[in-house]
Amino acid sequence: MDINRKLTIAIVAHDARKADMVEWAVFNANFLSRHHLVCTGTTGNLVQEAFAERGIFSEITCMNSGPMGGDAEIAALVVRKQVDLAIFLIDDLSAQPHEADIQMLLRQCRIHNVPIACNRYSADLMITSTLWDDEDYEPTQPKYISFKRS
Ligand code: PGA
Repeated sequence: MDINRKLTIAIVAHDARKADMVEWAVFNANFLSRHHLVCTGTTGNLVQEAFAERGIFSEITCMNSGPMGGDAEIAALVVRKQVDLAIFLIDDLSAQPHEADIQMLLRQCRIHNVPIACNRYSADLMITSTLWDDEDYEPTQPKYISFKRS
């Protein structure tokens, strides 16, 4: 399946999830090579290397590594509406030194209504959605409405 417009896809994987991310990216290389990938430093380099080994060309922009501000840089792109979709494989079994930045990236995706997949299953569902090309589909923006319990 193909999507007609070129998406900017943010890709971030914590160390324990990098093998999973590279495997996912290689499996979906055909799709990903038609879009622009914006990655935290180490994740982006690993995906780029895996693609290069297989002769796949893809537009990949590498930010700083996550702990040095890469998640924060991607969050800034989200705020500027420059990210269409984020794939974020989080290591939920270890503490991260940059937890504050991780939470910021997740929060900004929620606030700015950017679809974010935190596992491969969700990522697969998102990249195969027909809604990307549905001109009649208008994403509903999150509503923040005060609620009074009666
Ligand atoms: P990295 O960053 O791709 O540079 O390792 C990911 C992260 O830990 O947020």
